Amino acid sequence: MNSTNVTIVVPCYNEEEILHKTFSDLSNLLTSMIDDGLVSPKSKILFVDDGSKDQTWKLIYKETLKNGMIKGIKLSRNVGHQNALLAGIHIATESSDAIITIDADLQDDIYVMREFIENYQLGYDVIYGVREKRDSDTFFKRFTAESFYKLMNKMGVELIYNHADYRLLSKRAAEYLQGFEEVNMFLRGIIPLLGFQSTKVFYERKERTAGESKYPLRKMLSFAFNGITSFSVTPIRLVLVGGLVSFFISLFFALYFLGLKFFGNTELGWTSLITSIWLIGGLQLIAIGLIGEYIGKIYKESKRRPKYIVDIDMFKLPIGRNFAL
Ligand code: UDP
Ligand code: MG
Repeated sequence: MNSTNVTIVVPCYNEEEILHKTFSDLSNLLTSMIDDGLVSPKSKILFVDDGSKDQTWKLIYKETLKNGMIKGIKLSRNVGHQNALLAGIHIATESSDAIITIDADLQDDIYVMREFIENYQLGYDVIYGVREKRDSDTFFKRFTAESFYKLMNKMGVELIYNHADYRLLSKRAAEYLQGFEEVNMFLRGIIPLLGFQSTKVFYERKERTAGESKYPLRKMLSFAFNGITSFSVTPIRLVLVGGLVSFFISLFFALYFLGLKFFGNTELGWTSLITSIWLIGGLQLIAIGLIGEYIGKIYKESKRRPKYIVDIDMFKLPIGRNFAL
């Protein structure tokens, strides 16, 4: 049977504690899918080391020597989850019919990959893994995530609710993805823009069994902010509207105080003056800051720097060098 050649792409940043489990769980799953004839025996698991500071690359490298299903690439430095995913997808595209991306911590149910592939075979180009419940996440994480989705949707960006970066892309979807050249890649926002037939597969999200989340609050906020400013100019418009509103309110008060001066008690406080100065000053700073954010984005985009640099690609190994550094 002519079955699907799939590559499972796994971005890893300082994941030494969980990698053993990830290797064995994923290769067991892939073996069983190959045995069932669901996927081609040429299918692979590609680990992308995103410039880890721990033993991650060594572990990946050693595993590739033992296990023919496992491949690895090492990026020259840490470029972040999204760019690490892109690196893996781009490298896997050439040799695969379909690419599945999943986090190394196995918080996502790996067994629904079977459904991903069945849906791919039915003809879908994009299959989104969607978390049915987020019980394992803290209330805070759930709340911030929910607000983020709502805000993005309000601003006209189509995001799949409760879908992270666990998904299957067909070869052609992955190829077209390469045409999106922006530097600030936010895959969750870009992939719906491909417009291909897509479907969702639901699963329960588990807790991380080892290691720590690489998304502490600070990173999550910057991720969300990036997502918003990369896709929408609504914040700039809101600032404009805010500026206009505050301008007319100030105008009203100015007239009111002038009226008081000429027709009544002129005992006007210092407070009103100073608060309005601060208020307007603050508003101006916000506006300038936001505009600066967009200009910064334009600046970054205009440089067209590579999003990642592959240090070691185990698909194309030059002979006679040691790569376990
Ligand atoms: N990751 C990465 N580069 C980074 C940060 C994270 O490749 O700079 C990987 C990480 O190893 C994991 C995935 O991205 O496989 C998601 O990260 P994490 O589990 O920490 O995020 P969370 O699930 O808490 O949102
Ligand atoms: Mg995680």
